[in-house]
Amino acid sequence: MPFRIAARWIYPVSSSPLAWGCVTIEQGKIIALSNNPVQADIRLDNFVLIPGLVNAHTHLDLSDSAQIIPSAEQTPASLPQWLLQVIAHRRQTTLPQAQRAIQLGLEESLRFGVTGLCDVSAGGLSYDSLSQAPIRSLVCYEILGLNPQRINETWQRCSAWSQRGTIGITQRGISPHAPYSTHRDLLMRAASTGLPLTIHLAESLEEQTLLQSHQGEFVEFLRTLNVWFPEGLCHSLEEVLRILEKAPRVLLAHGNYLQAPPPTPSRMSVVYCPRTHALFRHHRYPLKEYIHQGWNVALGTDSRASNPDLDLFAEMQWLARNYPEIDPQTILQMGTLNGAKALGWDHVCGSMEIGKAADLVALSIPSTVSDSTAVNDPNFLLLHEGVGDYRYILFNGTWRGENPMRDNT
Ligand SMILES: [Zn+2]
Repeated sequence: MPFRIAARWIYPVSSSPLAWGCVTIEQGKIIALSNNPVQADIRLDNFVLIPGLVNAHTHLDLSDSAQIIPSAEQTPASLPQWLLQVIAHRRQTTLPQAQRAIQLGLEESLRFGVTGLCDVSAGGLSYDSLSQAPIRSLVCYEILGLNPQRINETWQRCSAWSQRGTIGITQRGISPHAPYSTHRDLLMRAASTGLPLTIHLAESLEEQTLLQSHQGEFVEFLRTLNVWFPEGLCHSLEEVLRILEKAPRVLLAHGNYLQAPPPTPSRMSVVYCPRTHALFRHHRYPLKEYIHQGWNVALGTDSRASNPDLDLFAEMQWLARNYPEIDPQTILQMGTLNGAKALGWDHVCGSMEIGKAADLVALSIPSTVSDSTAVNDPNFLLLHEGVGDYRYILFNGTWRGENPMRDNT
């Protein structure tokens, strides 16, 4: 049986916002969109309805590591120093603790309305949890190491994991950690598997100094860890990109200092993590420039080790406050359709179009706005402070958590 949901505003992303819009859903899919709410089965008068959120970069296994977030006094935080703390945290975490952290991060993501995500996972540990959850996901097995004598062992484990079958809609991929931590041969092997990849790239200026001249803060970092094997490093960002181009799909996490337009045809996307970027006080993110250059820019939360939560919508609201030159509907597209595109799912989800999955989030409008004329301005309203304090979430046409049909009776 089809059912119809009406809301004060519907933002389909692929078309203009609909005032008093109505979406019809049948068998998990969107079958109609209109601005006629009269026949609706559910009326969400003080809500906006958007496509499900796509978090294109996170590490669920760090969801218990809030203590690592550099405090305000520590900023600007040093990336290598922060990484040493993350490594220390990982080393003292037991397997059950890591599984518990993954569960915590997953539950938080589900609660906030994330319907698709890319998880970078040490040992691919999050795969089983994600494959049983109501969410689309790509789990990328993390590989790293510059020591040439360890490459084969690392690769064999990754390879065995990545060749296991797919469960449901949960895909497998590989994450070479970063150019400063991953041997060139590992990058090349990962790029030739035919699997999607994600990598932390151009996150800091120190990374480029290391690749170009084998100098800077990362040398000390790698020596401290007893893994200083400079012969395994790529020589430049361009070389890394050339190697990655062989992969069918690549998500470049952060890309804070990318200085190149996307290759053509591009199968690469940049994943901007706004609040994590701000924490490390990098140069202002060249968002306008990337959009102008034609990069597909998606959004990520990164982990709880550098972010107060895994709420992608909060990431978008932060972005709207701090980058007022970017249109709110562009920001919405980055957190939905662009994420789906980065993951190769844009034919299935990411926007409200007929035939696409009914992955939707209804976000409450605060009473201060719902009673004002601002409610008539979809651009002002979309990422306004207080929007989304309460949420209903639909995944594949099924309510996740609270059900407004039940709440209304
Ligand atoms: Zn990350």
